[in-house]
Formats: sequence, structure tokens, C-alpha cells
Amino acid sequence: MTQRTFSFEFFPPKTPEGADKLRGVRARLATVNPEFFSVTFGAGGSTREGTLATVLEIHAEGRPVAPHISCIGSTRASVRELLQRYRAAGIRRLVALRGDLPSGAAGGAGDFRYANELVEFIRTETGDWFHVEVAAYPEYHPQARSPAEDLANFVRKVRAGADSAITQYFYNSDAYFRFVDDVAALGCTVPIVPGIMPITNYAQLARFSDACGAEIPRWIRKRLESFGDDRESIRAFGLDVVTDLCEQVLAVDAPGLHFYTMNQAEPTLAIWQRLGLPAG
Ligand code: FAD
Repeated sequence: MTQRTFSFEFFPPKTPEGADKLRGVRARLATVNPEFFSVTFGAGGSTREGTLATVLEIHAEGRPVAPHISCIGSTRASVRELLQRYRAAGIRRLVALRGDLPSGAAGGAGDFRYANELVEFIRTETGDWFHVEVAAYPEYHPQARSPAEDLANFVRKVRAGADSAITQYFYNSDAYFRFVDDVAALGCTVPIVPGIMPITNYAQLARFSDACGAEIPRWIRKRLESFGDDRESIRAFGLDVVTDLCEQVLAVDAPGLHFYTMNQAEPTLAIWQRLGLPAG
């Protein structure tokens, strides 16, 4: 069996109360010993300081942490500076992304167009210091010209120096299996860890899914809609569906799970317990 990597993603809190809450969430999630925590980064550097502060705080607690870095709208100099700060702090893992500029923002302002350029830059600047993760899209990236081009772009990004990948969330395991097979057929065998989004809030999930192109299958959508404001039923149904999904991918030897925690401990821990994963 493959060595599995379990990881938990946070976004940088915007307020002192949010930061306090995240400390508690992190302490609870740390009890199951994830391989690492990761912290997202707003495109164009909008959360730069928040990401940096959260990452350094987690690192200072002695917990492995991977900052996300997005490159769109950034200059080489600003990315270089960030890499140097993380390296000097002793951070060893990054999640390297293109990112999305807010609609209406000028697109040509930065030095990078695609994530493969960022991965290449990280390798040129810092050699093998960082373990570099990249993003993968089992249901294809919404801007991809075709599935075949998206797969080729993914492979190019890996060949630029990525060690492993984390997927966009999905609720259809066949899309993930097919993606992994198609990438392998192109000669690329890095671990591709499924990204898992617990279901707790239907309106929010539907909004995210529309934006990022992750499909909520009709039967799940219908059931969730039918619960209306009944959060307890949404939570219970979501727990069943997402636990089944995790079981399906782990049964076929997925190299781990990456949870989009949305800065909450309970939904992820509930899935963890249902899966019978080690309590720590
Ligand atoms: P790329 O790999 O650059 O791909 C973007 C598009 O361009 C695709 O359609 C691809 O087919 C195409 N493409 C790629 N390379 C080329 C090329 N050389 N020539 C022509 N076309 C090309 N966003 C954030 O802002 N902050 C985050 O912290 C963040 N974390 C994420 C974590 C994960 C695990 C995932 C899955 C996504 C995350 N995102 C984050 C979202 C991500 O930034 C967006 O999905 C973004 O639109 C694409 O980023 P990418 O790195 O996948 O881009």
C-alpha cells in the first residue's frame, strides 16, 4: 500500500477572533497527526501578510505547514522575497498555484501567467529545498480549452518540478480515477491526493462549485435542496456522502486525503472517525 498523506487546509483569518478560533481548530485537528496543515493565499497577494503570519504561527507551534503561493499578478521579486522568508523560517513544503485575479483586475500586471512558470521559478531559486505541491482538476479546470489540453498542462506543471498534487474537490470518484489513469498514460506518476470538501452548508457549497467548476451531482443537489434550512439533516447526509467518497478513493489506493476544512474542526473529524482512521 502507498504511504498516505493526510493534510488539512485553512484560510488565513481576517480578525483576531478568527485567529483565536483557528488556534482551537488547529489544536483539535493536530490530535490526529496530519502530515501537514496548509494555508491559502489570496491571488495578487491580497492575503500575503495574513498567510505569512498564520504559517509562521503554525510553524512556531512545531507543526508542519505548507503555505500556498499564487503567482498571478505577482512579480518575480515579490515571490523571491516570500520564498526567502519561508526558507529562512525552515518551511519545507509549498502549494504552488496560478490563482485567480478578481474579475475586472488587470491581468498583465505580473511576471507569471501559469503555475508551471511558478514551479520552474521555485526550482531555479531554491533548488530542492521545498516539496512542491500543485493543483489538479479531475473535472477539468473551468478555463481549460479541452480536457486533453488541461491534462497536458497538468503534466507540464509537474515536469517543471512538482513533487505531488492535490485535487480540486469532487463528489464523483470516477472523475478522479479517470484523471489519475489519464495522467499516468502520459507518463506522469506523481501522487495525486484527492481534495475533500465536507458538506455542511448547501448555499455556500453551490456558490463555490459554480465558481470553481466542481460538479455537485444532481442526486446530491436534490437531496440537499430538499433539506432547506435543516442544517442537521444537511450535515448528516453530507457526512454519509463524503465518507463514502473517501472510502471509494482510499479503497483504490489514493495516496491520502487533503481536507478543505473551512477553518472548522468538526466536519473533518467526523469524517475521519467514520473512516476509522487513527485517532492520533
Ligand atoms: P494552472 O495550472 O496555471 O492552470 C490554469 C489554466 O491554464 C488551466 O485551464 C490550464 O489548462 C491552463 N494552462 C496551464 N498552463 C498553461 C500553459 N503553459 N499554457 C496555456 N495554458 C495553460 N487559489 C488561490 O488564489 N489561492 C490559493 O491558496 C489556492 N489554493 C488552491 C489549492 C488547491 C488544492 C486547488 C485545487 C486550487 C487552489 N486555488 C487557490 C485555486 C487556483 O488558483 C485556481 O483554480 C486557478 O484558476 C488555477 O490555478 P492553477 O495553479 O491550477 O493554474
